[in-house]
Amino acid sequence: IKKSAGKYAKNATPVKQAAVLGAGIMGGGVAYQSASKGTPIIMKDIRQEALELGLSEANKLLNGQIERGRLTAAKALKAMNGITPALSYGEFDHVDLVVEAVVENVNVKKSVLAETEKHIAEDAILASNTSTISITELAKDLKRPENFCGMHFFNPVHRMPLVEVIRGEKSSDEAIAKTVAYAQAMGKTPIVVNDCPGFLVNRVLFPYFAGFSLMMKEGADFQQVDKTMERFGWPMGPAYLLDVVGIDTAFHADQVMAEGFPDRMKHEGVNAVDCLFKLERFGQKNGKGFYAYE
Ligand code: NAD
Repeated sequence: IKKSAGKYAKNATPVKQAAVLGAGIMGGGVAYQSASKGTPIIMKDIRQEALELGLSEANKLLNGQIERGRLTAAKALKAMNGITPALSYGEFDHVDLVVEAVVENVNVKKSVLAETEKHIAEDAILASNTSTISITELAKDLKRPENFCGMHFFNPVHRMPLVEVIRGEKSSDEAIAKTVAYAQAMGKTPIVVNDCPGFLVNRVLFPYFAGFSLMMKEGADFQQVDKTMERFGWPMGPAYLLDVVGIDTAFHADQVMAEGFPDRMKHEGVNAVDCLFKLERFGQKNGKGFYAYE
């Protein structure tokens, strides 16, 4: 960890207009958080229904704030108007910073990032919300790798304070500074970390998931493990957390971690996440994972 992230942001020009690629669990959350803290944001996806879901989730969160007396209806409306849904890159030319939050697949991300670079200003910053993929690797085909870094939020975005800002081999100080400043403007606590598969948090979290999967192979009951971890004091156990993260995202992230840390993460045969992924039980996002949801 690079100490006192705040010092990076001191001379950064603030982000006036942001954009996010992907309107899923994370992209939708980033759009809500940015707009509700006063930075307008374009939310782009390739599917209209994802945009609609992203907007309705943001609306639900804003209504919750009104009900709790934390927000006036006028401010909620302003925040909602601050999210511009988009299926194209039409208005990306006046964006200061883009957060990429599409599927956890290195090839998809590389092609989305390269395409985005064509539509943004020379000095605009591109930041990936990848959970595990090396920022240096993602930067390889970019024309302006100095303007690229990681900006890793946690789920749910509106609740989790931490944001990892990841410095790739070629990320410039300006890119780090602007990303730190944007995280602070969103009310988050940024930390600047070095690049490696999983960065800081997921380097700790994924071996924990791997330990859980190994116990399941040995016959452990996932509900009992979850209950035990709750009694231990954690807000939720590993099976429930995997359902929240998304089994598909966890499956892809697992592959990256296994490649990066084969001694700790490689496993023989299939594990619980692999099985659920093959059964298309993607967790809360499609109503079934370890648990079933209404
Ligand atoms: P998700 O499946 O909920 O959403 C992904 C969205 O990206 C979908 O709506 C999809 O239509 C859209 N998409 C795909 N290709 C696109 C493209 N070319 N342009 C625009 N949109 C496109 O996934 P998620 O959970 O939001 O994860 C997104 C990223 O965030 C991944 O890299 C993941 O590793 C990371 N992340 C996830 C979590 C988590 O807990 N789910 C936490 C931190 C980081």
